[in-house]
Amino acid sequence: MGKRIIVAGAGHGGLSAAYNLAKKGYDVTVYEKHKEKDLGYGWGDFFDMKAFSAAGLPLPPKGVVDRIPIAYYAPDVTIPPLYEPDQTGFEMFMQRKDIYKYLIKHCRSAGVKFVFDTPVLSALILGDRVCGIKTGDGDVYGDLVIDACGYDSPVRLSLPDYFGTEKLYDKEADCLYVYRGIYERDSKKDDGAQYKVFLEFDENESVGMRWLITYDDHVDFLIGKLYDFGEETINEKLKDLQSRYPQIGDKLISGGQVNKIPIRQSPAIFVGNGYAGVGDTACMTMPVMGSGIATSLRAGALLAKTVMADDEERFNAETLWKYEVAYMKNIGFGLGSISIVKALIPVLNTDDVNFLFGSGVLRDEDMTFSSEDGSVGALISGVKISTLLERVKKASANMELVKKISNAGINIIKYKSLTASFPTRYSRQSVKKWAEKYNDLFGR
Ligand SMILES: Cc1cc2nc3c(=O)[nH]c(=O)nc-3n(C[C@H](O)[C@H](O)[C@H](O)COP(=O)(O)OP(=O)(O)OC[C@H]3O[C@@H](n4cnc5c(N)ncnc54)[C@H](O)[C@@H]3O)c2cc1C
Repeated sequence: MGKRIIVAGAGHGGLSAAYNLAKKGYDVTVYEKHKEKDLGYGWGDFFDMKAFSAAGLPLPPKGVVDRIPIAYYAPDVTIPPLYEPDQTGFEMFMQRKDIYKYLIKHCRSAGVKFVFDTPVLSALILGDRVCGIKTGDGDVYGDLVIDACGYDSPVRLSLPDYFGTEKLYDKEADCLYVYRGIYERDSKKDDGAQYKVFLEFDENESVGMRWLITYDDHVDFLIGKLYDFGEETINEKLKDLQSRYPQIGDKLISGGQVNKIPIRQSPAIFVGNGYAGVGDTACMTMPVMGSGIATSLRAGALLAKTVMADDEERFNAETLWKYEVAYMKNIGFGLGSISIVKALIPVLNTDDVNFLFGSGVLRDEDMTFSSEDGSVGALISGVKISTLLERVKKASANMELVKKISNAGINIIKYKSLTASFPTRYSRQSVKKWAEKYNDLFGR
């Protein structure tokens, strides 16, 4: 157990792995580019509270609340919204900065060391192995590098091609650009749903969303788009929503920047000799809404378990593959099936989405997009045949749309067979062959 484990970036999954490994006596150091006080964002997040116990952590003393059900609006806002099914007792709300404080406190008490204010620049490669990281303060060598640097991780980007890991996530709809700001609440009333999500299209038919959550003393405003955008768009979108919902005040209290969230399937391979990716670097998010805190915490614990089970401490592609298997089987394949449905997004237009909402093809029970639990695959597999037929009948009023949806249906069938042939035992050849098929299905 004298081996040295490096966690690159203080991502949630990296901290979960670090905590579990240090608790068992491993030598773990986290290298983070930000100063400790600057970690996190200026807002709070909902996530599945069961993820803390999955990561071996007690529940934080405060913050367990029932989720606020989301009302989803079609581009034509006169169509009645669809409501997320009841998920009470399911989620917890915590300020992002408090999540970090909580995780770091537990990591420290388990013996994890932290080096803040130190950017990781790339992986260090020796032969066919990652043997450490290059940082702004010099090279650091270790036996395993856990990459928790998020979407644009320089560690992942510098991996040798030999690893077979997808490096650039640059296809359409791989990423959601998100602006989020907490604004002062104007005293004006809004009798509608507390948490509203508006699906909308640009003039060029690129899909996007906005959300508005109204609290007693502030409102939470978010814009999500498939491409980067600046201040002009933010102001225009904010003003437009203020004209409909005057409770949105002008004063920004916190947040107010654009960030990137992966909204795509996990890459086919996210482990290699001396390397394991966790969290956003391995796209462990719900592919529509982008929630990934709980999945990252869970994945970190699965990774720690695999590392501990590696008796000879080889930490190579073969032994770390068990982590990928555990993640994909428990969580990743469920989220990947949503990715297939999401692939419909760029081909749908305003009229299609209005039709889906207004005709009854989509129903309240389908609106589970905010969930990040592995069971979200139920969106696809849980629909009863009788209700499916009824919906197909309704959809047949729009044959163009049926054609688009049936393509996704065919891909779901292909995906199911692909997941069934996932190699649970590592051999370079079988993993490579499977990865080619997986990438092919997702158009990589
Ligand atoms: C606006 C917004 C709202 C969201 N809302 C929710 C929500 O409500 N619920 C939910 O579950 N999820 C939400 N998410 C998604 C969630 O933030 C991520 O999925 C989750 O944090 C897992 O990401 P991560 O920890 O792997 O990566 P990140 O959160 O990106 O963390 C990566 C860490 O690595 C550090 N780092 C990056 N590069 C380097 C480098 N070169 N050197 C050293 N350190 C580095 C970063 O500073 C950071 O600390 C939201 C994301 C955004 C942007």
